[in-house]
Amino acid sequence: MRYAQIREIDIANGPGIRVSLYTQGCHRHCPGCFNEETWNFKGGKAFTKKEEDALIALINKPHIAGFTLLGGEPMEKENREDVLKLLKRIKEECPGKTVWLYSSFLYEEICQFEENILDYVDVLVDGMFILAKKDAKLRFRGSSNQRLIDIAKTKEQGQIVLFE
Ligand code: SF4
Repeated sequence: MRYAQIREIDIANGPGIRVSLYTQGCHRHCPGCFNEETWNFKGGKAFTKKEEDALIALINKPHIAGFTLLGGEPMEKENREDVLKLLKRIKEECPGKTVWLYSSFLYEEICQFEENILDYVDVLVDGMFILAKKDAKLRFRGSSNQRLIDIAKTKEQGQIVLFE
């Protein structure tokens, strides 16, 4: 997997102070995308064990509420296997930290993937960024079609439950 950026302090993509990782590569090409430099799968930098270890240490700092994964598109086929390994490790080694995942794929689509990624996610922000539905007043999402989904409650109730 390659990545575009690691942010040690992120207060825009989930509650509290978070560490975020922007994966590299996206085939979706939404009109109005604010992150076009992340589209090329050969761009960015290699995400190696060294970066992974450093990321875990950052997430475990006491003032950090959790980890947020964005892109690019973390749910592209090219990224999924490595994302799954990373999220498993975060859940094992970063107790008490929440995991948020941003994806242009819908919850229903991600459930169909071979990789059980949502087993390691607390909140999924799903759906493509739609320029016509862009609303700067929205918290934690860019356009009004995107949903903030509470994964544990959704699985428990068998229907989409939004994060409050
Ligand atoms: S999925 Fe994200 S990175 Fe990809 S084009 Fe859409 S907004 Fe941009």
